[in-house]
Amino acid sequence: MKIPILLANNDAAFTEQLIAAFQQRHPEVDVLLPGQPGSDKVQVAACWFPDDTLLTNYPNIKFIHALSAGVDHLGESLLSSGLPICRIVDERQKQGMFEYVLWGVLNVHRYFDLAALNQRQNRWQRYKQKAASDIRVSVLGLGALGEYVAKGLADLGYSVSGWSRSQKAMANITCYSGEASLSDMLGQTDILINLLPLSPVTRGILSHKLFDQLPQGAYVINCGRGGHVKEADLIQAVTRGHLRGAMLDVFDEEPLPETNPLWTTQGIVITPHMASDAGETVVVDQVAENAARFLRGDALLNPINLDHGY
Ligand code: NDP
Repeated sequence: MKIPILLANNDAAFTEQLIAAFQQRHPEVDVLLPGQPGSDKVQVAACWFPDDTLLTNYPNIKFIHALSAGVDHLGESLLSSGLPICRIVDERQKQGMFEYVLWGVLNVHRYFDLAALNQRQNRWQRYKQKAASDIRVSVLGLGALGEYVAKGLADLGYSVSGWSRSQKAMANITCYSGEASLSDMLGQTDILINLLPLSPVTRGILSHKLFDQLPQGAYVINCGRGGHVKEADLIQAVTRGHLRGAMLDVFDEEPLPETNPLWTTQGIVITPHMASDAGETVVVDQVAENAARFLRGDALLNPINLDHGY
């Protein structure tokens, strides 16, 4: 029997890729797009920025699968619906995230950012090389991606700390948890990497309040979500020289509007939400597997905690 899945995806090119991958790898799945005959009877929805009327228009949906690691794009109506929600966890995506972060860390550690800036002014300036162990890197979020990144950097010899909601114990990583301990970690941070999920608690966390607790000259890498950053605060912290700079992959409004001052703030590096994506084969494999599990009544893979919203 076919497994019907409603594909509620606002990205047309991504939808085409997923349909092709489902056809090739999962002939047992019947992909339906919103509005197609039979879509109103489907119980499983696979979503990326779905309309907030999804559950009103498709009241038979009983299980939501995000087509991504983060689930914030599902919106309040799905996240508070009480329906089970799963997300993608992909080993290749973890490695991709590590590669992206490593670029940022090396840029700062080995002064490649300043060398590139100096070149624009025909300026020859050498910098004293530091050992990786002299660079204190802190990771906000020690989940699937944050843990992988923190461990990878620790393996390369960096002095790594990490912060999560619940307390962790990880070899070669100083682990902090809870709001009260955050400032202890921030005060000992040269490079801060954000890999938190966006939730009502973490929204706007990269603000003046946080930047002021970082030492003078610290650097920020944001791979979480744009909603974590108070953009005006960041621009000010970089412009007044408190922060050496920032590398940003995600933005409140994507694509980042041409007129946004982040583009032209010296010391800020912009990338277009390309830190790391989950391959479409992994996405369709996990969605198909979870849809089958849901319909059989079996335990789901990678469910989010509905109380915490991630
Ligand atoms: P996980 O859910 O696996 O991990 C989230 C981590 O954040 C956990 O360690 C969690 O703590 C911690 N956390 C959550 N809320 C708080 C809080 N209030 N205080 C302290 N710690 C908190 O997520 P992933 O690692 O898979 O992904 C993280 C995010 O990365 C995604 O939500 C997405 O936004 C972003 N992302 C960005 C991509 C890009 O290309 N830029 C690609 C993929 C993801 P605990 O362990 O205690 O629960």
